[in-house]
Amino acid sequence: MQGQMMGGDLLISGLITHAAKYHADTEIFSVNTGGGEETTTWSQVESNSRALARALGALGIENQARCGTLAWNNRRHLEIYFGTSGGGYVCHTLNPRLPPQQLAYILNHAEDKVLFVERTFLPLVAAVKDECPLLEHIILMEGSDDGASDIIPGIMLYDDFIADGPGDFVWPQFDEKTASSLCYTSGTTGNPKGVLYSHRSTLLHAMASNMRDCIGFSAQDVVMPVVPMFHVNAWGTPYACAMSGARMVMPGPGLDGASLVKLIDTHEITIALGVPTIWLGLLNEAKKTGSKLASLERTVIGGSACPPSMIDAFREDHGVDTIHAWGMTELSPLGSTNQPLAKHKHLPIEEQHALRVGQGRPPFGVELAIVDEDGNMLPNDGVTQGDLVCRGEWVLDSYFRTEPGSALNDGWFYTGDVAVLDPDGYLTIKDRSKDIIKSGGEWISSVDLENIAVAHPALANAAVIGARHEKWDERPILLAVRAEGADPSEAEVLSIFDNKIASWQVPDKVIFVDELPLGATGKVLKRKLKEEYGDVLMA
Ligand code: ADP
Repeated sequence: MQGQMMGGDLLISGLITHAAKYHADTEIFSVNTGGGEETTTWSQVESNSRALARALGALGIENQARCGTLAWNNRRHLEIYFGTSGGGYVCHTLNPRLPPQQLAYILNHAEDKVLFVERTFLPLVAAVKDECPLLEHIILMEGSDDGASDIIPGIMLYDDFIADGPGDFVWPQFDEKTASSLCYTSGTTGNPKGVLYSHRSTLLHAMASNMRDCIGFSAQDVVMPVVPMFHVNAWGTPYACAMSGARMVMPGPGLDGASLVKLIDTHEITIALGVPTIWLGLLNEAKKTGSKLASLERTVIGGSACPPSMIDAFREDHGVDTIHAWGMTELSPLGSTNQPLAKHKHLPIEEQHALRVGQGRPPFGVELAIVDEDGNMLPNDGVTQGDLVCRGEWVLDSYFRTEPGSALNDGWFYTGDVAVLDPDGYLTIKDRSKDIIKSGGEWISSVDLENIAVAHPALANAAVIGARHEKWDERPILLAVRAEGADPSEAEVLSIFDNKIASWQVPDKVIFVDELPLGATGKVLKRKLKEEYGDVLMA
C-alpha cells in the first residue's frame, strides 16, 4: 500500500518558483565584476532565469546540454544557476583560476555547448576556445559589447539574449534524478574529475543545510557567500537561500578584507561563508579599522581546517559564532557542521568552546565512518584514527563518464581524509592522507601543528609539511609568514609548541616565507611547498 499524499519531483525550478512566490521583493545585492553595483529581487531572478531557459531552448541545444560558466558571484550568475538547471540543462561552473590547459580539458570532457563568461575572463576563453571544438555559443554576461566581439567573434550579450523575457515559458517537469549541475574536483592529483549532481540531491542538500543544526539560513538572514559560485556551487548557498527566502549579497570579485568588511557593515550581513584564508584578511582589516562587524551573527568556515584561534577571534572580538564545516566536491559539499548538543549546555564554557573546533556532525542524509587500511570499521571513540568514508543522499556514486558505483568500495566513498570520530559522531579531520607526516612509523597531523602556530600573534599564517628525512623518513617543517611589524626568531616560533604537543612532534625547522602558495579554491598548496622545501632536511 502506498501513502496517499501528493508529491512531485524535487526540481531546482521549484526552489526559484518558491522564492519568487513567497519572497518576491526580497533583495539580492550584487557587486558587478567590471565595477558598479545593482540590486535585484528573487522575483526578478526567477523571471530572468525563465527568460534564459526559454532562450536556451530557442538555441536548439539538446536536453541536458552542459552550459559552462566563468564568473564571480553576482546576480547574472545566480540567474544562470536557476535558468540552466531549471530548463533541463546542466549548469557547469568552471574555476577561472585553473591553468588554461586544465580548463580546456574540463570543457572538452564535459562537452560544454554554451559558455557564459565575464569580460575579465575573455582572454582565458580566447586562449582555450580553439581547443574546444564542441563549444557552440559564448555569451558575455553583460549588457554591452565594448570590444568583446573583437576578442571572441560571434559572442552574444547576456542582456540581449534574455531580452524577450520569459513569455509564456513554464518550467519543464522531469525526473528528479536528472542531472542538474556539474563541478570538477581541483585535480591536485591527476586530471580533474567531474561530479554530476542531480536535482534531487541538490534539493535534499539544500534542505539539510537549512536545518538549524547545520547552517540554517532563514528569511531573516542577509547571506554573503564569499566562497565563489565556482567552488562546489558556493557550497549550495544559492539553492538553500532560495529555499529559505534569505536576502543575499553577492560580493563579486573583491574578496579582500577591506571590501568584505565594507559589505558586511553596509548591508548588515548576518551570515557569511568562506575558506579560512579569506577570513584572515577580514579579521586583520576589522582590527585595523576598528569595525566590530556588528551585524554578523555567524560565519561558516570550511574547505580546509579552520584554526581554533580564528574561531576565538570571531567570538571574542566580534561576538560571531563560527560554524566549522567539513565537505568536499564529491559531497555537494556538506558532510558535517559543528553545532553543540543540548547536553553540552551545562558544560563549563571552556569545554563548550573546545567542542566547537572540530568539524562537527553529519546532518540526516550523510553517514560517516572510519576504517583501517583493510576497510574494517574502526571504533568511534574519539581517539582512534582512520580513513574517513561516507555515504548518503548527496554523496557521489561515480565520477562523470565512469561506470555506476565505480567511485565506491563496499558502498562507501573514500574521502582521502584521515579522521577521528567520537561517540556522538563529532568528526575531527587530522589531515589529508597525502599530507599527514609519517615520522619513524608515527603519524603527525600537520593540521594540529598549524592550528598551534597560527594562534601566535607574531605569525600571520603557517603551513606544515613533511620533509624527507634520512633517519625518520619524514619530519615536520613549518613554513611561517610573519605578521605585519613582527620579527620572531626561529626559536621563538618553535617555543609556541612547548607543552602543547609531544616534543617529538615539534617541527625540525622553521622557514620564513613572504606568502603561502594558494590553489584555485584559496587553499594552501602543500604539493607546491613539498616540491620546494621537501628536501631541506637532507644533507
Ligand atoms: P579540492 O580541495 O581538491 O579542490 P574539495 O574542495 O572538494 O577539493 O576539498 C575537499 C577536501 O578539503 C576534504 O577532503 C578535506 O581534506 C578538505 N577540507 C574541507 N573542509 C575541511 C575542514 N573543515 N577541515 C579540514 N579539512 C577540510
